[in-house]
Amino acid sequence: MNSKNGKTKPDRQYRFIVVIFLIIATLMISSAVLELQQSKKELFQLMTKQAHSLLESLIIASQNSLHATAYLDDLTEERLLNNAGLVKRMYEKNQISNKILTELSDQNRTFRALIFDKQGNKIYSSYQEKRTEQPAKHDPRQILQPIFKGEQDTLMIGYKQARFAPGYRFAVALAAQNRSAIVINIAAEEMLKFKRDIDFGALIRKVVKENPQILYIALQSPETILAASGAIRQLDGIEQSAFLQKVIEDSSFATRTTPFEESEIFEAVLPFANSGEIIGLFRLGLSLEPVREINDRIFRRMIIITLILIAIGFVLFVYIFTRKRLNVLQKEYSVVETYSGSIIDNVSDAIIVLDRLSGIKIFNAAAEKLFGLNKKDVLNRDLEKIFSQPECLALLKEESVLKQMSCKIGKHQKDLLASKSSFLDQDENENTILVIRDLTEQKQMQAQLERQQRLTAMGELASGVAHEIRNPLNTIGTIVQQLDKDFEPVSEKEEYHELAGLVYNEVKRINETVQDFLRFSRPEPVQPTHFLISDLFKHLERQYKPAMESKQIRLEIFLNWQGEVFWDNRQMKQVFINLIQNAMDAIGENGHISISVNAKDEKLQIQIKDDGPGMPENIRTNIFNLYFTTKAEGTGIGLSIVQRIIYEHGGVISVESEPGLGTVFTVQLPILV
Ligand code: ADP
Repeated sequence: MNSKNGKTKPDRQYRFIVVIFLIIATLMISSAVLELQQSKKELFQLMTKQAHSLLESLIIASQNSLHATAYLDDLTEERLLNNAGLVKRMYEKNQISNKILTELSDQNRTFRALIFDKQGNKIYSSYQEKRTEQPAKHDPRQILQPIFKGEQDTLMIGYKQARFAPGYRFAVALAAQNRSAIVINIAAEEMLKFKRDIDFGALIRKVVKENPQILYIALQSPETILAASGAIRQLDGIEQSAFLQKVIEDSSFATRTTPFEESEIFEAVLPFANSGEIIGLFRLGLSLEPVREINDRIFRRMIIITLILIAIGFVLFVYIFTRKRLNVLQKEYSVVETYSGSIIDNVSDAIIVLDRLSGIKIFNAAAEKLFGLNKKDVLNRDLEKIFSQPECLALLKEESVLKQMSCKIGKHQKDLLASKSSFLDQDENENTILVIRDLTEQKQMQAQLERQQRLTAMGELASGVAHEIRNPLNTIGTIVQQLDKDFEPVSEKEEYHELAGLVYNEVKRINETVQDFLRFSRPEPVQPTHFLISDLFKHLERQYKPAMESKQIRLEIFLNWQGEVFWDNRQMKQVFINLIQNAMDAIGENGHISISVNAKDEKLQIQIKDDGPGMPENIRTNIFNLYFTTKAEGTGIGLSIVQRIIYEHGGVISVESEPGLGTVFTVQLPILV
């Protein structure tokens, strides 16, 4: 992960979270505002509808009440006039007396029946008037003037206060003989009560009383307020209000919000017409309390939303802040971890850290290489998983801190140097660190070097001796040859020549051996050239194919690396000839030789494997010694030469062999000398 990505990726995530948060916040707030507007709109629509229908019904009710009171008055008037007509007929026939009048009043359920003469004097009366101290409230002579003067025959007196008693009367008068007047009245309290009950003013007061939301209802003409309920002192006149004038002009229903008694109210106005002419306006004032309630409700919701958003925002802030801190710490930790991890991984020694409770905790790259195991297969497992040999495990468990040991790892015997130390981790658990160095190659090289030094010292000594031997030997050879040719014995001629030939041949054999030895002890310098490794093995294959076929030996070559090497071609050919020849010798007949070439860490690893009889340990440990041979015809020089050439090419040779399991020679050489 590069640092740029490391920085931007979480930042983008946090920005994304913040954007989502802002979107949710905006949605929550705007939905609340929209709901407020919608609710207000719906409420205003509802109020408008209700106000309109209420005003319409009030108009109908007021018209009905007007009609009803007029109808009641007409009916009563008619009844009283009928009564007066009866009294008139009886009076003109002189059949009237106070008693009869009283009876007629009782029968017709009228209150009083009176007859006044032209001068206004009471002639007959259905009752005996009890005069009180109080003055009369009106004078009948005044009221009855139109009859006395002959201007009217019937007079609708209508409602008037009783003269002395409390209460009201409804009265009519009818002209009789000599411009006398017959007056019939009834007690009008009931009628007035009924009138009051169906009166428009009463109606609107009742409506307002029963509906607290209605602040006032008023019927207003351009000049004055005709009827009203509630507090209307502040109602503006039609003249002062452009809105009210427009309602009259348009002759249509209209609404508005307007100030009333220090607060905003909703007012609906409907023109009121009588006989097609607009005589005034019905005004209905409705409280805006429900709107204020909606406002309050939404305001409360806004506060709750804000608090929730603040809480969520705070949690998000803490989350992002902590995550950022955590990321920084994680990054720092991963830097340290990578740093120490790469140190551990790049160390050439195998490092294994063991937790006493949970097994292997660290298994570095060198450990993977040494044990041929994958880290993930051994983590959290026991140490037994990697050391199959119990002796090695026991050695590692010993107290000693530094131990050299030879252990079998997989198929290979390895020389190891193990050091051990322990420490307590943060949980106070004891951890053990094993640092294991593979000394196998080093040991092989050391042994090879020692042998080489031994051989060189011995060779130098011996070559001097050999040189000294070679000259007399040559002389002996020449003389024996000369004697054989020039000298002829007298007897046993044949035996003489035979012996001379034998001496010559033996001298020659000694000479060849000395020659061989000198060649070995004074090796030729390495002369490297570039050549393809495949060419070398193709050549060897061609060379050995016929011999192997005749002995039913199968040769396989696996060139897993095909490149150019920089070696001494002739010497290296010598190496593989010796190794292949030894393998063939070991197999005898019927067998299998395989050669594999692999590249590993700038080095080539070449293995020559045969399925011959293998070697017991006492042979295996001596095969690189000069003149060690187990063959009747062997010289014991071959592997010494092989080891010397490989040594001079900077490589090592090792052998693995068990009786019955065949033999593997492993040569490790740098690709370029
Ligand atoms: P020589 O071949 O003359 O004996 P070398 O030095 O080549 O000399 O070999 C030494 C000895 O190593 C052999 O005599 C043999 O005992 C043993 N040897 C070498 N190669 C093999 C092999 N592939 N299998 C078994 N033994 C072997």
